[in-house]
Amino acid sequence: MAGLLGRAVLAFTEFAPIRTTFTKTRPGRAVAQRFVAGETLDEAMAVAAALVESGCEVSLDYLGEHVAERSEAIRARDDYTACLDRIGASGLPANISVKLTQLGMGLDDELAAQSLGELAVRAAEVGTTVTVDMEESDHTESTILIYEEAQRRYGNLGIAVQSYLRRTRADLDRLIPLGGHIRLCKGAYAEPETVALQSGEEVNANFDSLLTLLMQAPGVKPAIATHDDGRLALAKELIPQRRAPYEFQLLYGVRAALQRELVAAGYPLRIYVPYGVAWYPYLTRRMAERPANLLFFLRAVVGRR
Ligand SMILES: Cc1cc2nc3c(=O)[nH]c(=O)nc-3n(C[C@H](O)[C@H](O)[C@H](O)COP(=O)(O)OP(=O)(O)OC[C@H]3O[C@@H](n4cnc5c(N)ncnc54)[C@H](O)[C@@H]3O)c2cc1C
Repeated sequence: MAGLLGRAVLAFTEFAPIRTTFTKTRPGRAVAQRFVAGETLDEAMAVAAALVESGCEVSLDYLGEHVAERSEAIRARDDYTACLDRIGASGLPANISVKLTQLGMGLDDELAAQSLGELAVRAAEVGTTVTVDMEESDHTESTILIYEEAQRRYGNLGIAVQSYLRRTRADLDRLIPLGGHIRLCKGAYAEPETVALQSGEEVNANFDSLLTLLMQAPGVKPAIATHDDGRLALAKELIPQRRAPYEFQLLYGVRAALQRELVAAGYPLRIYVPYGVAWYPYLTRRMAERPANLLFFLRAVVGRR
């Protein structure tokens, strides 16, 4: 969730000159490299293979969101299909994470729904699943509607939910009966008070309560997507009572030592691995979560001059 400083970072990174400095300079690209596996599918697959070698599963995210043209949405679907083909050919324990605005939601919801269905079918053919990322709150309802239809029809999907949203508890009443995997995260966007809890304490308390609910729901696979020690400690307390599958999920490039600790302790762990050229919005959210990441970049830029 973006706190006050995080909101300032998100606003700052929207300025065109800042965007250019990030995307066109070496220090900018260096910060991106920490969080993004590369710009091509080949690079992403190499990172995925190394993560699998270290004991993790992965979720590949072909970066992109809010496409402006139907043709871009169709290209994104095709790029994801290519990614699924590679997952199938490689035999790696990997799935894909998709943003529905990248598949055209908001522009042509029917196209997005159809593309999600096609990806679910291809994923089933190669023996894997599709996770639907959760985006800004303006899109929550349409994301859930499209997900519900796809999950009822194909059954091999999952969805992310955000503990900062006031509506999420009620959304779980709709989502849990559909089975699949449910990724619980705090939420990465700047949201107004009308829809989202604003303080870290409230977001954490809601995370804990939603996590407890999910860990007691046998029909879904909870994916515990946080790097927060307090939330992880609660998860570890709840795990011994759980008889059904669950997993931890972390972002590529964040808390690598924690990644190793979880694997060494025998917990199932999936790493979210983003790749592609459209990495800037993703990077701004990673900086908003930890403004020190932005300072690191600014120091590198100033140091170059
Ligand atoms: C696998 C996965 C999938 C996600 N999918 C979505 C999604 O679909 N929709 C959505 O809105 N959000 C998504 N998120 C992002 C999430 O909502 C949070 O914004 C993000 O995980 C930071 O929150 P946190 O729970 O790690 O806790 P925080 O309290 O933010 O962080 C805890 C600690 O983790 C470390 N940390 C956290 N973030 C960073 C960072 N960027 N750089 C360096 N260190 C960091 C710091 O040490 C920090 O003190 C996802 C997160 C994960 C792990």
